[in-house]
Amino acid sequence: MKIQILGTAAAEAWPGIFCGCDTCKRARAAGGKNLRSRSSIQIDDIYKIDFPPDTYHHIVQYGLDLSRLKYLFFTHSHGDHLAPQELDYARPVFAHNMQNAPIRIYANSKVVRAIKNTCTSKEALLELHVAEPFIPIKADNLTFTPIIAEHSKTELCLNYIIQSDTATVLYASDTGKYGRETMSFLHNHKFDALIVECTFGAISPHRAESHMNLDAVVDLRDNLSRSGSLKPSARTIITHFSHNMGLLHDELEQLAEKHGIGVAYDGIVIEV
Ligand SMILES: [Zn+2]
Ligand SMILES: [Zn+2]
Ligand SMILES: [Zn+2]
Repeated sequence: MKIQILGTAAAEAWPGIFCGCDTCKRARAAGGKNLRSRSSIQIDDIYKIDFPPDTYHHIVQYGLDLSRLKYLFFTHSHGDHLAPQELDYARPVFAHNMQNAPIRIYANSKVVRAIKNTCTSKEALLELHVAEPFIPIKADNLTFTPIIAEHSKTELCLNYIIQSDTATVLYASDTGKYGRETMSFLHNHKFDALIVECTFGAISPHRAESHMNLDAVVDLRDNLSRSGSLKPSARTIITHFSHNMGLLHDELEQLAEKHGIGVAYDGIVIEV
């Protein structure tokens, strides 16, 4: 499968929309990989996880054709992952020749409710399903299995295990350190790639209750490696970064490389 990480920033983007901190100033001046939009991934042509407010930017920037979108999975309802008003354009007067409509949406009940409340037209080409943790969702050639993320006390946040016939990938955003149930579920898999949020970069110590830092990502990777749940060739890639970490792309990359971890940038393509 081909995964494109469309956006790699935490909620306020990077540079932060209204932010004048030194790190954002440095990012504006340096440009390139230091400009980060809100998080989402595209898988092949018909799958997507999350629908942030930067989705239109992603379509234009990466030449995406969402008239082909068939499956849309959500991690949770935070505004950097869910822009429900944009989904209201998936109906006849705004969108023609949607080749795989209706778009099958799988999400927690809070996200489903938000989309229902916003996209009220009977013509909406959206099919809403509540995703249950640990219950696989067969979606054409791929299977998406939601797992329980540790991110919010007010909703059941989900991360996803994505499987093809030949590869297994973890998409872990947003989350802190996983609980026991999720860890033992992960131990029953063998991963080719981990794509893990690292909101706080190298800020340490950090308790990893709702977001990760580099130490927490290394712990997760090493835990899965020790238990035989990582293929020897598996890659670990970090994403979903906050400017509050104070490191530009190259600076974070230098630290992550020491642990054999790759740093995502907007638009990076990963083939597994
Ligand atoms: Zn987020
Ligand atoms: Zn800033
Ligand atoms: Zn969040």
